Amino acid sequence: MTRGPVRVVAAPPAVSRTAPPEVVEVRLDPAPTAMVWSEPGRPHESVAVPSVRLAPGDALVEVELATICGSDVHTTRGDRSAPTPLVLGHEQVGRVVAVGAGAVAVDGMPLVPGQRVVWSLTASCGACATCGRGLPQKCERVRKYGHERLVHGWELSGGFASHVHVRAGTAVVPVSDDLDAALLAPVSCGTATAVAALDAASAIVPLRDAVVLVLGAGLIGLTATALATDAGARVVVVDPDPARRAFAARSGAVATADPSAPHDVERALESAGGAPLVAVEASGSSAAVASALTRLGVGGVAVLVGSVSPGPAVPLDAESLVRRLVTVRGVHNYAPRHLVAAARFVERRHGAWPLAELVGDEVALGDLDAGLALAAAGGAVRVGVRPGR
Ligand SMILES: [Zn+2]
Ligand SMILES: [Zn+2]
Repeated sequence: MTRGPVRVVAAPPAVSRTAPPEVVEVRLDPAPTAMVWSEPGRPHESVAVPSVRLAPGDALVEVELATICGSDVHTTRGDRSAPTPLVLGHEQVGRVVAVGAGAVAVDGMPLVPGQRVVWSLTASCGACATCGRGLPQKCERVRKYGHERLVHGWELSGGFASHVHVRAGTAVVPVSDDLDAALLAPVSCGTATAVAALDAASAIVPLRDAVVLVLGAGLIGLTATALATDAGARVVVVDPDPARRAFAARSGAVATADPSAPHDVERALESAGGAPLVAVEASGSSAAVASALTRLGVGGVAVLVGSVSPGPAVPLDAESLVRRLVTVRGVHNYAPRHLVAAARFVERRHGAWPLAELVGDEVALGDLDAGLALAAAGGAVRVGVRPGR
């Protein structure tokens, strides 16, 4: 659709306003760039985006730091399907550069250039039945950062870019200017998902004094451990990697265990107070899902959050679940309130928990493929991607 003549003015940032419907065209010098991924084995290609048209409610954000999620690694390996070509990346912190008419933060306050923000993984319509049921992450017209095929007009759709075109319907959360970007970049994925997982659990079982079993000590599992500990739970973390178990112990776990030694898991649970009433499955392993379901005590709740790519079916002992009055909840992504809580958790508690150590190596945006290889090799929970380097 043509929205009238566009005036090109000098940068940075050059902004021109057209008559209603109000579209703000932004031209930066140098032009924003995005890393485009096409298929496994093929390096990313950088594309320049000389003009960004901001519709009402949109914002253009300059990325300070993005982090590589496990799902980015799975996609580039070809383990999960993705509409290509696309710009990956959905965990990042940045600063607002320009705003469309009426762009607001999640609290309803106007967004202003210079503001440091994180934003939700999804943009939702706010009007469909699913949005109306409080599940905006499953909006019938949902658009997901780092997950959409490259289209003209929304090239800056993922975090592996110098800038992201944040669309109306996205929950944008202003964050502290004082924190290291490495603390804030993961907030919009793993941290907010961990908040959502514990929100789902605590709707069934109060966390205070509960034994909580966390399976998988990645970003979600480690963050859930710290959050549940803060809420008064006694957390047992199961992970095959000794370094991750040590990280979990520093994140509040009262005991840890190796899943390949079931007696160790039992001993760890015993030392924490017995059968768990909450199990957070954050590994995606079918064996871990089965373990979560079988170990729960009477009235317990299993929150399944890690199973986001196809895996073998999990055997289900229905009689056992019935007799133990077990609740099973699936949690995928999160609602805006979880992102707000995640940002406030990191701001308040980064001194108490080793959140700063979640991001290890950093690469420049142009070295994204090397960063993905580092992330695939394991080690640090997250690898950072810094456009400014
Ligand atoms: Zn992620
Ligand atoms: Zn909707």
